Amino acid sequence: MSAKTNEKEREIPEGFKDIRCIICPTGCLVHVENVNGELIIEGHSCKRGEEYAKVEFIAPKRILTTTMQVEKGFLPLIPVRSDKPIPKDRLEETLKLIAKTQTKAPIKMGDILIENVFGLDINIIASRDLITE
Ligand code: SF4
Repeated sequence: MSAKTNEKEREIPEGFKDIRCIICPTGCLVHVENVNGELIIEGHSCKRGEEYAKVEFIAPKRILTTTMQVEKGFLPLIPVRSDKPIPKDRLEETLKLIAKTQTKAPIKMGDILIENVFGLDINIIASRDLITE
């Protein structure tokens, strides 16, 4: 049986997960379980860890880092990253979009190279400056 959270009506996945909290060096192992539609969270030592484990269980996100092709650049590729964490289930299509996108030098660190990816309010930005060839 699945259930919904109040947060954006996301489905709570079935089963359980033991999640290592990476918010601080203590590294608590947090157990998150869907028990008859209710989310049970144990093993955390603080509220931040509880929230981290909850998000990791329901809708994990990651900062995406990769490279993008550059036209007329001193180098053929530039390192890029998302300016916010991307839902894990959208990472692959975002990587494909970046792979088929070509930007043009000169580029300044922080320049938005792809705006509002898939309407997620997340931008792909340059991780460094890149001068022209
Ligand atoms: S639960 Fe709290 S104390 Fe434990 S690792 Fe996470 S942030 Fe640190």
